[in-house]
Amino acid sequence: MANYGIAIIGYGGIGAYHAEHIINTKSLRLKGIFDIKKDRNDLAKSKNIHVYESLDHLLHDLTVDIVLIATPNDSHYELVMHSLHANKHVICEKPVTLSTKLFDEMSFLSQKQKRELIVHQNRRWDSDFLTVKKIIDSHLIGEVFHIESRVHGGNGIPGDWRRKRDQGGGMLYDWGVHLIDQIMLLKDAKIIKYSIDFSTILGHEVDDGFLLHLYFDDSTDVLIEVQTTNFIKLPRWYVKGLNGTAIINDWNLDGYINQLILPLEETHSQTVKAGNGLTKTMAPPSEDAINKMKLPPILVEPNVFYEHVCNVLEKKESLSITHGQIRVVLSLIENLMNTRV
Ligand code: NAD
Repeated sequence: MANYGIAIIGYGGIGAYHAEHIINTKSLRLKGIFDIKKDRNDLAKSKNIHVYESLDHLLHDLTVDIVLIATPNDSHYELVMHSLHANKHVICEKPVTLSTKLFDEMSFLSQKQKRELIVHQNRRWDSDFLTVKKIIDSHLIGEVFHIESRVHGGNGIPGDWRRKRDQGGGMLYDWGVHLIDQIMLLKDAKIIKYSIDFSTILGHEVDDGFLLHLYFDDSTDVLIEVQTTNFIKLPRWYVKGLNGTAIINDWNLDGYINQLILPLEETHSQTVKAGNGLTKTMAPPSEDAINKMKLPPILVEPNVFYEHVCNVLEKKESLSITHGQIRVVLSLIENLMNTRV
């Protein structure tokens, strides 16, 4: 079994998460980290992780095969380019960079150097996303025509680079990258129209959330909503098909499917009292029209991303996070950002 040396640049929130997972991945050896902050280096040392004196020391370490970049968004480009020039394979955090022009340069250099450039789109392996994909692919609710994907937080934006526009802060670059990437994998269709409303309710120079509508050429419409001022959350997923509706409330896969088992004309809904009036249209369908089902959960091993990386380097699998896919999402985000005043 191959064994790859890997070093991390940026030992912050996600850098420390990577370190933990790398230590538990058989084919990887954590060679050390490099961070510009003393407290993060001290923390790494306290966990017996080697701390490189400088970026150069890390890049010149011949036992390092892979460099993992987990620094703020605006610093990815330079660090990726240095690492590729040093002949390392690179894993880079999302968003890989802030413009398609810079990404094209990175992608070109990785091909020229014959080194992999792998973007950490880890949320492709989230159970909730994979469960939605299974519901759609196995036609459990018929032809899907409407998808809502939401993440709601009630803590604002952390007070660091995420609040700075020139560092690639804001929620579109943060969660938008994940949620758009997921949607693009759900349907084999092209976006024909889109619109976005940015939220700036917290008064930072970046968006603290957004509502993005995507319209696809197979008549599916998608709502992606990211907000940081929700003290009560809406469900993570709400998916409508011609033969049913699915709801997934959170990452823990709490939710269900209501499958329509009679034609709509035969659902025999009864008129019900609603507020200060009556309704037949908004009454629930009759019990014999609906089959309430459990979600078909897809559970994923926690180290699946890192194992995929090793398999790609060993040429046992081809890279599933392709540069073409990354570019499509980045290009959309670039266009959306240009609509911001
Ligand atoms: P963070 O602020 O917690 O950590 C960033 C670290 O990088 C800090 O310790 C900082 O000192 C260090 N740093 C900054 N510039 C550096 C440089 N030039 N060289 C070395 N170290 C440097 O941020 P974070 O939340 O860990 O986010 C880092 C990156 O990871 C961002 O791109 C973010 O979008 C991404 N991220 C991805 C996920 C995911 O699930 N894929 C989750 C969180 C963050």
